[in-house]
Amino acid sequence: MPYKVFFCVPTGRAEFFVQRFYDKATCAAKPGDYCRARVQAWAGPDKELEANNRWPADTDPRWPKCCEACGKEFAADASRSTGSRTIVARADTGEEIDLCNAPVGACWDASWYRDERAGPDGRRLIVKTPGGDWDIDSRASNCTMPNDDAHRCWVRHGRPEDGTLNVDKNGNTCQAGAGSIICGNYHGFLRNGYLTDGC
Ligand SMILES: [Zn+2]
Ligand SMILES: [Zn+2]
Repeated sequence: MPYKVFFCVPTGRAEFFVQRFYDKATCAAKPGDYCRARVQAWAGPDKELEANNRWPADTDPRWPKCCEACGKEFAADASRSTGSRTIVARADTGEEIDLCNAPVGACWDASWYRDERAGPDGRRLIVKTPGGDWDIDSRASNCTMPNDDAHRCWVRHGRPEDGTLNVDKNGNTCQAGAGSIICGNYHGFLRNGYLTDGC
């Protein structure tokens, strides 16, 4: 079944999270996987993220105590890390989405990469495929015009908001590919708002 592409809009809010994990794949609930846990340590307006993006002391109660999957308690030597993200919501349902774990078909504007390269509408659109993230406005690895910045290796038409996003080779483009994407094990097209099944 093809995957519907849906747009994710920034909510103006961000979160800061803390994680603990083991470096060895010893989780009893997920063989071959690492014990880990992540919790939201702060959420609020985007512009306040920087002030709240602070590594908590080891004694801070927000650090998770147990593995999310098997419940094993973290010992003192378990690793710690922190991270942050912008909170986005599906334009179609309003549901909040974690872009790191977004379902296939999620599409967003990576505004933080716009300066580097953007598409015709000034946005830098990313689409989650079954094989990973497809940065549509980026340069294809097999671009045949590597010194030309005016063309796009993938040409976008339409908009992700209304299901008309379409990617092909109709426009100022190079000889790379046929407008399809290879992402991990996935090879497919984005046609009329849907990622094809792949092949
Ligand atoms: Zn575990
Ligand atoms: Zn190209």
